[in-house]
Amino acid sequence: MIKKVRSHPSQNEALLFERSSPGKGAWQLPELDVPAVDASVALGAANVRAEIPGFPEVSEVEAIRHFTRLSTWNYAIDHGMYPLGSCTMKYNPRINELVARIEGLAWAHPYQPEALAQGAMEVMARLEAALAEITGMDAVTLQPSAGAQGELTGILLIRALLEKRGSPRRKILIPDSAHGTNPATAAIAGYVVENVKSTDTGVLDLEALARAADGDVAALMVTNPNTLGVFEENIVQAAEILHAKGAMLYMDGANMNALVGIARPGDFGVDVMHLNLHKTFSTPHGGGGPGAGPVAVKKALEPFLPTPRLKRVRGKWAWDFKRKRSIGRVRAFYGNFGVLVRALAYILAHGGPGLRNATVDAVLNAVYIRKQLEPYFDLPYPAPNMHEVVFSDERQAKLGVRTGDLAKRLIDYGFHPYTVSFPMIVHGALMIEPTETEGKLELDQFIDAMISIAKEVETDPELVKQAPHSTRTSRVDEVAAARKPVLRWKPA
Ligand SMILES: *Cc1c(COP(=O)(O)O)cnc(C)c1O
Repeated sequence: MIKKVRSHPSQNEALLFERSSPGKGAWQLPELDVPAVDASVALGAANVRAEIPGFPEVSEVEAIRHFTRLSTWNYAIDHGMYPLGSCTMKYNPRINELVARIEGLAWAHPYQPEALAQGAMEVMARLEAALAEITGMDAVTLQPSAGAQGELTGILLIRALLEKRGSPRRKILIPDSAHGTNPATAAIAGYVVENVKSTDTGVLDLEALARAADGDVAALMVTNPNTLGVFEENIVQAAEILHAKGAMLYMDGANMNALVGIARPGDFGVDVMHLNLHKTFSTPHGGGGPGAGPVAVKKALEPFLPTPRLKRVRGKWAWDFKRKRSIGRVRAFYGNFGVLVRALAYILAHGGPGLRNATVDAVLNAVYIRKQLEPYFDLPYPAPNMHEVVFSDERQAKLGVRTGDLAKRLIDYGFHPYTVSFPMIVHGALMIEPTETEGKLELDQFIDAMISIAKEVETDPELVKQAPHSTRTSRVDEVAAARKPVLRWKPA
């Protein structure tokens, strides 16, 4: 019955169920020191079961080893560089974790009375103020739990303001370099999406924008720097074109890692934007875990922000639920509080000059990679890049090797792949974002790996096309895995 008990610690781990045998246990309770209660009486017989069918019975050491081995199958930022473009996979300093575990913060309950939650409320108030200062905006809500939810919140705010002015309008403009969440957000908020072309240098085409910006446009949603890692140098004029037509400028702030401490969206015409704390502000990221997508707005949009809002009453923090124009809640309670604590810790530990340094280093790292790899990979948009760089597989594709193959081969060199085939305006994209937390040694190893792979494509393309060779499984059927996932183990 037990198929494979011994194996290399990190490979071919049997299912926990296969290690099970009746009577093995990983728990032991102290003797009861209160009167015993019959569970079937207290809870009702229908709610109590004698047995959980197929539940594995293993000892503590077996359970611990099983999950520890499984954890080594994951690549993580704690293993090495994670150059996944657009995702800003920076290293999260351990001190943030320590701060988030401070007892009064970790155990704070959202229903705790205000008088007993002053510290937690102060943390949120300070974070709102810090983010307003960093973005150059007037007010911030911490409620949204992710970038995409921040986008939806932001667009609903625009809708509410325009509705109050007489009409929500019907269209939202989105450049062809946009992240997929932008058109999805606009559509979910009930808008018609209209694309605006980019120029050959990869920035917004102002003439195309001026033609598209009619009286029925509610907003332009733009990522800046855009998904090519290029700064939208005409952003001030773009804002003027929109504002002249009564439309607004929404900025997707997922790429703020290239701007913090250098330029403020509020100063270059942005009306509303979101931040990804789990990207720019060094909080845990990935695996579908908690994130935070605060939204920052200019004054005109402030009355519409989600409730409740923090307010000061007789020298204490209080929650203000009575806001007539608010779009309402977008999430239970006040946001992913633990993430907010980590972000504030990160911001305060760095201070202004430290945050600015992080930005400068992030840009320096990406420019360094670009310069080193330019002789080996095609660079479709030669405009100066900021915190990330986008190559295409054009040269390698001539030998039958595509961006996905190069990325798989990178796994054999011990690196997490870069972002494959995004942004969509670059055919066969390789999108690389090192972030500021990588030192030169790690960058040079990554560059060496990429150059070595480029050479392998010339000499042995099949080797690359069949990569990875060093992992437990090689190529899997990704379409079937997404469409027909097997999620349930059936006892034999
Ligand atoms: C990551 C990202 C988003 C979405 O953010 P989530 O937190 O994953 O919802 C939106 N736009 C851009 C440009 C991004 O990089």
